[in-house]
Amino acid sequence: MYRIGQGYDVHRISEGLPMWLCGIRVPSTTGFVAHSDGDVAIHALCDALLGAAALGDIGQIFPDTSDEFAGIDSKILLDRVMALLRFNGWELLNADITIALQSPKIASLVPDMRESLAAVIGADVSCISVKATTTERLGFVGRGEGCEAWAVAMLRKK
Ligand code: MG
Repeated sequence: MYRIGQGYDVHRISEGLPMWLCGIRVPSTTGFVAHSDGDVAIHALCDALLGAAALGDIGQIFPDTSDEFAGIDSKILLDRVMALLRFNGWELLNADITIALQSPKIASLVPDMRESLAAVIGADVSCISVKATTTERLGFVGRGEGCEAWAVAMLRKK
């Protein structure tokens, strides 16, 4: 049995906050406003994984009203989502993430991002794709107000 899922997330950008994407600290004077560490890419991936398994969404499983998740490293959230999938008999075949961010440029960090996600998931890095784009200065991403991420994931249950 195969299932596909998609996920989306957005976080506001502000000065003086840390910027985490795919579990990598991005060198930047700006970062993401969030209850957790604001890693939009991991949040989108978690929702794609949960969506494929029809197991709800990241907001249900890790409520932003809970102190337990305040400032939490999103790699922990991803690890817990993967454990939930495995408990339900699912394995990840591949995932593909697109990050829309105007600044800073993150293309050079993509190999580290893929390694970071693959390590948490326990998958080969060839199964994990990360792509970065700007929005040509259009919209809230283009004005540097926020960062968006989309993810798709394919799961298999034997
Ligand atoms: Mg989020």
